[in-house]
Amino acid sequence: MLEGKTAIVTGGTRGIGYAIVETFVEQGANVALCGSRTETADAALAKLVESGVDAENVMAIAPDLTSPESLAASFAQVVERFGRLDILVNNAGISSRTPLADYSAEEFQSVMNLNLNGTFLASQAAVKIFREQGDGGCILNTSSMVSKYAQSSGCAYPVSKFAVNGLTLALARELAPENIRVNAVAPGITRTDMVDALPEEMIKPLIASIPLGRMGEPQDIANAFLFLASDMASYVSGQVLGVDGLARS
Ligand code: NAD
Repeated sequence: MLEGKTAIVTGGTRGIGYAIVETFVEQGANVALCGSRTETADAALAKLVESGVDAENVMAIAPDLTSPESLAASFAQVVERFGRLDILVNNAGISSRTPLADYSAEEFQSVMNLNLNGTFLASQAAVKIFREQGDGGCILNTSSMVSKYAQSSGCAYPVSKFAVNGLTLALARELAPENIRVNAVAPGITRTDMVDALPEEMIKPLIASIPLGRMGEPQDIANAFLFLASDMASYVSGQVLGVDGLARS
């Protein structure tokens, strides 16, 4: 489904991002996975190659997602290695559980910096390349079900994901005339380190409330990204696709 395409996946070292990388490579893409540090990105790359992925089709980069210069330099490396860029997946993200009264301005800002500003800046860097190539492109953002329902503490996290949805729709409108599609996937609770970090008493009732009766697997989410990245979704833009087992809150 992605033969001949090149993708960059931020937060590609583990969890949902790693599943997206595996799935995209399996479907014929060349993929650059991003980690927050060179060591974690290289370790994820080594794990992929060990699992049988051809080293020719993958590379690891570690841009600072809050720095336009760092993003431009890393994305240029990807174009140099694979010849072009077709798909950007803005998946890196951090969560937050802090109650309102305990938030510092810095903590609130740090969530927004990665989840929103990182998505904005990486999109800007990718669009510059798409424009030079002149034949369209695809941006996919990882939102969350908290962008519909919020959560009972840690307001920075849902606020950042509401904003990611807004950015998705705004950029979809702005970039459609250049055949650049912009969509988001909003996962429900998915089995990753992010969820493992939450207390059992919080997770259990949430899973019990999911009508499809189970937690999401990273592959469930990666499948939605695959569809939106592929030419099967060539007339889809500005959408936030919920993949959450019909979760309510
Ligand atoms: P995870 O913690 O397993 O992975 C997070 C990824 O983000 C890692 O690859 C990490 O390297 C990267 N990252 C974290 N801080 C970074 C930084 N400062 N700079 C660059 N990269 C950084 O989490 P996950 O569950 O796989 O989350 C991936 C995305 O899915 C996030 O955007 C998250 O908000 C979203 N999401 C997760 C769930 C869930 O239940 N797991 C639900 C909804 C949405």
